[in-house]
Amino acid sequence: MMKILIINSGSSSIKFQLIEMPSETLICSGLVERIGYDDAIINYKTKGDSLNQTHNIKTHREGLNKIVELLLDAEKGVIANTNEINIVGHRVVHGGNSFSNTTLITSEVKEKIQEYAALAPLHNPGNLEGIFVSEEIFPMAKQVAIFDTAFHQTIPEKVKKYAIPNELYENHGIQVYGFHGTSHQYVSNKAIAYLGLETSKIITIHLGNGCSMTAVKDGKSIDTSLGFTPSNGLVMGSRSGDIDHAIIFHLVNNLKYTLNEVKTLLTNKSGMLGLTGHMDLRDIVEEAENGNAECQLALAISTYRIKKYIGAYIAAMNGVDAIVFTAGIGENSPTIRKLSCEDLEVFGIDLDDAKNKSGSRDLREINTAKSKVKLLVIPTNEELEIAKQAYELVN
Ligand code: AMP
Repeated sequence: MMKILIINSGSSSIKFQLIEMPSETLICSGLVERIGYDDAIINYKTKGDSLNQTHNIKTHREGLNKIVELLLDAEKGVIANTNEINIVGHRVVHGGNSFSNTTLITSEVKEKIQEYAALAPLHNPGNLEGIFVSEEIFPMAKQVAIFDTAFHQTIPEKVKKYAIPNELYENHGIQVYGFHGTSHQYVSNKAIAYLGLETSKIITIHLGNGCSMTAVKDGKSIDTSLGFTPSNGLVMGSRSGDIDHAIIFHLVNNLKYTLNEVKTLLTNKSGMLGLTGHMDLRDIVEEAENGNAECQLALAISTYRIKKYIGAYIAAMNGVDAIVFTAGIGENSPTIRKLSCEDLEVFGIDLDDAKNKSGSRDLREINTAKSKVKLLVIPTNEELEIAKQAYELVN
């Protein structure tokens, strides 16, 4: 029996879960949001208790220290001392070409994560900080890294190579890496098990703050919409997704942006935020329903992009058995799911409106009886997937 603490650090948040393995028992879970703000929010849940607090939390280090205080708390805590934690599993966003599997963290591994921070500046620095802090707090625990890029290592060369000079691929690792791997892996495995498929063609659509789609053939990623960095593909909360790269030259050469300004523009000020002024999809849907034309158009732009990738991945796999929606938006927004599945009868895709609107939190089908393609909503659980992989590695 082992207690595994999962740390899933985002750009301004830390999700955590304490899971007992191999029973997969969730002991507690929580989320620190709005790190960097005076009114950061901590949410913490155990079997019989929950709390929501606002604190001034400026860094990931402070956030993690707060989490540990809660785990040890005399009343609401779930451990008596930090030595009870056997493994800390860290989600790390960019593992480049160096990691195709879950890995024990060594100083070489930390150096690589640092090296790849240039490619995932919103994520890898927070991930690394989480590792440093947890090594101090849990010196007896095994520290394990699970990379978002690992599941996509099966993508064939014809897909992962960009059409740029070979030297950049061979000597500098410029290629498609793909992200959200643990989520795509978790939900595609669930779909395969639920449908009882021996051979399978699944499209997984992860829509959260970051968004990506993956073509999963027989359980393996063969194509994915995020690429060298978590920037391209779908329209995201504040990231543009696909654009013509010549726009960057135009911004710099003719509109006199600096390169850093372009990076900030495309990473932090674009996507749904750039189109509407809002980043939270709930606000955008509400405004759209109240007649806001900009918000209506932003929903049309983002779901048109999803449909283009659905078409592309059906072509890539020569068919599709199931399309899976997951993550904050994918699990919770009937509007986005409806717009993404509209006018795709040519592929045998037929959404059931009533089922789509049902608010269930469980794995569910939202297709009509006559739909040839299963449409599924599957709550992602990256933390459980990380716990399983970390447990397997250590044992
Ligand atoms: P994630 O990155 O998976 O935690 O997803 C975060 C995003 O999910 C937020 O930016 C919200 O826009 C979106 N979200 C969460 N709940 C809902 C909901 N009930 N309806 C629409 N979007 C939601």
